Amino acid sequence: MESLGGVSWEGAFWEGVELEKLLLTRCAKCGRLQHPPSPMCPSCGSLDWDAQEVSGRGRIHSWIVSHHPTDGFDESRVVVLVELDEGVRLVSNLRECDPDEVDNDMPVEVMFVDTDGVKTAQFRLTRQQ
Ligand code: ZN
Repeated sequence: MESLGGVSWEGAFWEGVELEKLLLTRCAKCGRLQHPPSPMCPSCGSLDWDAQEVSGRGRIHSWIVSHHPTDGFDESRVVVLVELDEGVRLVSNLRECDPDEVDNDMPVEVMFVDTDGVKTAQFRLTRQQ
């Protein structure tokens, strides 16, 4: 865990993605991790934020298959709500998997995908050794 400090409440996540790190905003006062970012901490009302790098590992809390065509996706894609080990939930895409093999509670890990020069944080199933 690494505290970067002095970040803007809205910028840390995307700055992290550029560096291929998963950074979440963390309340400088009470330490609550918050995603998506918000101007005011919902726990204590503080307006001061730090960033914390998180593991990028978690589990699938829920998921859907989206058939709506979007840039960079020719086929249907799996949209997941991931619950990170740190307890924060975020919505992303699940890559490198067949929708038939997806199930709730499967372990996932973050990966960084470059689509036309824009990096995004997405997830893939954690490969069992
Ligand atoms: Zn707080």
